[in-house]
Amino acid sequence: MELKGKVAIVTGSARGIGRAIAVALARKGANVVINYAHSEDEARKTEEMCRRYGVETLVVKADVSKRDEVREMVQRVIERFGRIDVLVNNAGILGKALRPMKVTDEDWDAVLGVNLKGAFIVTQEVLKYMKKGKIVNIASIAGKDGGTVGPHYAASKGGLIALTFNLARHLAPNILVNAVAPGPVDTGLISPEIKEKLRKLSLTGEIAKPEDVAHTVIFLLENDHITGELVDVNGGRLMD
Ligand code: NAD
Repeated sequence: MELKGKVAIVTGSARGIGRAIAVALARKGANVVINYAHSEDEARKTEEMCRRYGVETLVVKADVSKRDEVREMVQRVIERFGRIDVLVNNAGILGKALRPMKVTDEDWDAVLGVNLKGAFIVTQEVLKYMKKGKIVNIASIAGKDGGTVGPHYAASKGGLIALTFNLARHLAPNILVNAVAPGPVDTGLISPEIKEKLRKLSLTGEIAKPEDVAHTVIFLLENDHITGELVDVNGGRLMD
């Protein structure tokens, strides 16, 4: 799909990986909807970075886990652009790092509510208007290998991978749905000691940059013959 002139929503794009995806889309000439939950200032920074490419942007506050807020966001996108061609479900939270027996119902509901239910709510609301297009879900290596953070995070990302496959089956041929599973990504929040440890786990000797994930998302969006796939971006961590 040619991205120039298309309308793309990127959830959780005020910073980190979502910001890199929004900017990569803008670089390709897509008009970008920058969704955020907390920081309007950061979202405006993403907007400024996108605008450098001469595209149109819309910044919308909406908690993806809340149906009413998502519905309102999608309404605003339709009022402004009249169409939605691309959805990137990127918004996510890590939750507390906890061993299984320490996870409370509240911990579970918070993480699953954003990472899995949130992605589903946004997808449902967008599908009311998207007749032809692409969806990319940002999962995680934790959805494949269980990760080290917590069972709630792993389950949310494993669920998102399964949701991707189900949607791909049901929405083809007009809407193609794929997922990306990053390993650790350096969004500026990792300490130098942890970075060193993570580098050693990667065959590339490096930690992914947000742009590495964004590049993969663009590849999936531009390709018209890939659906129901999960693409790893983890420097070969699962190769043993
Ligand atoms: P981040 O915390 O820097 O950014 C996540 C964004 O999502 C933030 O802007 C946050 O405000 C937003 N968000 C959180 N809850 C939201 C909600 N309810 N509604 C709307 N927006 C919300 O995280 P990141 O590292 O850029 O991660 C982006 C995605 O990539 C997440 O889904 C994460 O699970 C996944 N991921 C990250 C890594 C990593 O190492 N950073 C690895 C694998 C997968």
